[in-house]
Amino acid sequence: MEVYAYEPLGYEGCLVRIEVDIRRGIPAIDIVGLAAAAVRESRERVRAAIRNSGYEFPQDRILINLSPADLPKEGASYDLPIAVRILSAAGAIPECGNDILVMGELTLDGKIHAVRAVLPAYIQAAKLGIRHFVVPRESAAELGEFWQPDHGKVYAIDCINDLAAIMLAVRNGKEAENPDALFVSDPPKGGLVQVGGLAQVGTGSSRNSYCQKGKQAFNTRKPDFSDYHGDKALMRALVIAAAGRHNILLFGPPGSGKTAAALRFPSLLPPLTENEALEVGVIWSLYGKSPSEPIQGKDKGWVVNSPDSLNVPGSEARTRAKVDCCEGVSETQFGVTGESVFLRSGWQYPPVRAPHHSASCEGMIGGGHPIKPGEISLAHRGLLFLDETTEFRRDVLQSLREPMEKGYVTIVRAGRTVQYPASFQLIMAANPCPCGNLGSPVKTCVCSPQEIQRYWKKLGGPLLDRIDMRVPVGAPTPEALLSSESGQQRRMLESVLQAVRAQELRMAAGVPQGTPFVRNGDFSPDQVSAFCNLTKDAHLLLAEKAQQLGLSARACHSILKLGRTIGDLDGKEVLDASVIEEAIGYRQFGDGDLYWPF
Ligand SMILES: [Zn+2]
Repeated sequence: MEVYAYEPLGYEGCLVRIEVDIRRGIPAIDIVGLAAAAVRESRERVRAAIRNSGYEFPQDRILINLSPADLPKEGASYDLPIAVRILSAAGAIPECGNDILVMGELTLDGKIHAVRAVLPAYIQAAKLGIRHFVVPRESAAELGEFWQPDHGKVYAIDCINDLAAIMLAVRNGKEAENPDALFVSDPPKGGLVQVGGLAQVGTGSSRNSYCQKGKQAFNTRKPDFSDYHGDKALMRALVIAAAGRHNILLFGPPGSGKTAAALRFPSLLPPLTENEALEVGVIWSLYGKSPSEPIQGKDKGWVVNSPDSLNVPGSEARTRAKVDCCEGVSETQFGVTGESVFLRSGWQYPPVRAPHHSASCEGMIGGGHPIKPGEISLAHRGLLFLDETTEFRRDVLQSLREPMEKGYVTIVRAGRTVQYPASFQLIMAANPCPCGNLGSPVKTCVCSPQEIQRYWKKLGGPLLDRIDMRVPVGAPTPEALLSSESGQQRRMLESVLQAVRAQELRMAAGVPQGTPFVRNGDFSPDQVSAFCNLTKDAHLLLAEKAQQLGLSARACHSILKLGRTIGDLDGKEVLDASVIEEAIGYRQFGDGDLYWPF
């Protein structure tokens, strides 16, 4: 029997083998293997928890080795595996005879608290052929959506006194007869495989497609555009951005509805595929929260993935009396029943993050001690919304450039290098000038041209260059405000889903098998030349405009990518001049000398 714990280091992390040696001597516990303070303190928690659970703690010298020895260990998830090792070495609980992964933080009375990173630990352990997982009941729920029957058994545990029964169950294989221990109502098909550095569930499942779900059923996020009165051009731009996953900057005077439009934007996003949901799940598990938990933001509610997301399974389990789980342990008690947290909270919704403009670099790209993913990784496969973008610190804004290019972020802290995926869609909102009145027909701007220049310089050319769409938002007209258009949200969402479907079909037909599907906004230069075919007129128009406006190669690519999305929305396989003209319109502001239409 080997007992493994897990050290969350970067996206994948590392399994840690726990070894114990008990010998005669002055009673003491030593932990070796680069244990940080929280791990070293676990010996006191373990001692108290074992005693208070009714076991006798060995009055001997105990040496605990955490292997590999050169990997620094942090966090409290080592408590339970160390306790398992000590109890089985002392003969207090039976040996289970199999390799097991054990995670959990102990309280002094022997209860087990949730820990972070249970999902990536499970994925790593499953890859190494470990078939038995003992995790805190509260944390087990996050495995729910991604657990697969051929990967072994998951035992949700409440207190140390459950251990003996679990070990017996593992040894005797009894758990195989216990359907309640299998807590997934609809397990995904296929196996866990490693593709491109990210854990993915095997392809072939219908859920690896964006649009095969019922269109009506998907995306009931609120607020949505049914109560939004904006002009037609803005709505069109938002549909294009959602369909092609293009980065977008909305700028205009205060009160023109930029923020309101951005807040409603998540209601247009297509569902995550199963692979994407797994990546998102792993990152949020490393962060130690569920994606459904509300985040900071000035508007309550829009980042909550579903209305019932606060109803987290397992919260009832926490209140269970200790006596329940100690007397007459039945097998069903190890099972987590009910739907998983992802299923309940709508795991298929892309995550949305809206950090405040006081965010630090560390908060934005990740870091800290222990290292955790930042906002850009929490927004992986989803949306990062920067309201009042120009109020963000310049170095914070500039730190977004590299992850936007690569789709992941590399963090170096205290000699450790870790990577987190960070492929997000950026949506920014900003006033046109420091006072906000530039371009207003009624108010007067009091800013000097130099101030306006300085204001926009903060965004920086290189960052702005990665924004495909720059859309001016004017104050809504009284007629637009009074008009009530029914079915607006449904029409917009249907256009988006139809355009995403078109992209899926094209990529499926056109790329070598195994290439990850990307949407138009994430095209590589090769994909741009492969998929963006122009008519002769369109070609001439683009060449002429490129010279006239001094467009860079990146700007031309960005126009072609936008053109591809417009073509997908309008059902055009070959892009004609009108498509290119519309695409150039979204790109015309902000390149070279800053020119704004006010
Ligand atoms: Zn001004």
